Amino acid sequence: MYKNRKYDLVIVGGGIIGTYCAYHALRKGKSVLLLEKDAQPYEASFRNFGQAVPSGQALDSWFDYGRKSLKIYKDLQEEVDISVVKNGSWYVASDDQEMTLLEEMMQLFKDRDYTSRLYTASETVEINPHFKKEYVKGGLFIPEEASLNPLVMVHRVREFMIKNLGLHYHNLCPVIAVEKKRGIAMITTSKKQTFWGDQVILANGRDTQFLLPEHYPTAELKISKLQMMRLAPQKKILKSNILTGLTIRRYDSFKSCPSFSKIYTSSEQKQLQAKGIHILFKQADDGSIILGDSHEYVPAGEQANFGFEVSSEINEMMLSEAKRITSLENWTVDSTWAGFYLQGTQSEVFTKVVDDVIHIINGIGGKGMTTSPGFTAEYIQKLYS
Ligand SMILES: Cc1cc2nc3c(=O)[nH]c(=O)nc-3n(C[C@H](O)[C@H](O)[C@H](O)COP(=O)(O)OP(=O)(O)OC[C@H]3O[C@@H](n4cnc5c(N)ncnc54)[C@H](O)[C@@H]3O)c2cc1C
Repeated sequence: MYKNRKYDLVIVGGGIIGTYCAYHALRKGKSVLLLEKDAQPYEASFRNFGQAVPSGQALDSWFDYGRKSLKIYKDLQEEVDISVVKNGSWYVASDDQEMTLLEEMMQLFKDRDYTSRLYTASETVEINPHFKKEYVKGGLFIPEEASLNPLVMVHRVREFMIKNLGLHYHNLCPVIAVEKKRGIAMITTSKKQTFWGDQVILANGRDTQFLLPEHYPTAELKISKLQMMRLAPQKKILKSNILTGLTIRRYDSFKSCPSFSKIYTSSEQKQLQAKGIHILFKQADDGSIILGDSHEYVPAGEQANFGFEVSSEINEMMLSEAKRITSLENWTVDSTWAGFYLQGTQSEVFTKVVDDVIHIINGIGGKGMTTSPGFTAEYIQKLYS
């Protein structure tokens, strides 16, 4: 129907980066076409844990992109239900060192005018009675942070844009070539359709081997495989996102704490860290508990080396650590899955402009749901300023 039509902006990839690029460009009055290769996009942006936690981001621009994203989510949520709920994040410390990091972190947040509140062990367990007393040394609660349902959020934003902002969208539309021709971008799909854009954004996630592969240097990108699980629906007990001791040791923000470099790591913790495991919990609307996650890495383009199995050894390690932290009425695993994302090795996101009109935005790593709305707002602002 839109064959050969020219747009202000064509976007390749219907994940969160592509979707929010479209959103910000449409809000600026631009004509936008979004192309997705699958019937429904179902990569990282739909398989993730679904937390928007600026508190975990490096305390530079990425923390700020996270805060900006929270505002974008909340404003949009007022217009249409995109499943974003301001339910806050709890960091739970399991030893005195992690507790020191939480104390230091609270001060760093205070310096940045970001509300957080520190709780003693007994207060933390009183508020969260499902936590095991033996595990908890105290907690930090951040009320502003949010949860979203990754199964629906990006789809709802896209539907909203089609209905209200004039987005043109094609699914089942793999893009096979992008090049500059006659001063603008020419985009060709596997069905031999041709689209034109003053600019094109490639937000095509981990599949870097198909489009302009020469522009994705292997040394600058890696792929992470994460394992997640969903436990059986049960009585509502978790109101917030729960992040635990190994998360405090893993998230970038904590690296700014003065004591970070001095913390001792036990051999049990090292074993879990070797598989990139840190334990996160949240409870979905149907009462099921989402439990994550683990991280394994290969260089970009080598994802076949992960194999295709979800490792039950890794799932057992996660379950066993989770059982040390909390009491749940039902530990039945209803489903388990793997998700993959591309990550920059030398930068927090991989961006590149080819021939003035082709923009690669990729490799945002494990922070895409937290920071993409804010990061893409800035990118689109610069593109059209
Ligand atoms: C298990 C897991 C848990 C996570 N938890 C969180 C979390 O709690 N909080 C957080 O902030 N982040 C989290 N993340 C990270 C976050 O999900 C990613 O950073 C983000 O989804 C990456 O978005 P993207 O748009 O770059 O890629 P993707 O979501 O992979 O989207 C790329 C899209 O491009 C399409 N595409 C590819 N090639 C073509 C082509 N040639 N033509 C057309 N379309 C194409 C693909 O089909 C896909 O839909 C998690 C990730 C995983 C895997």
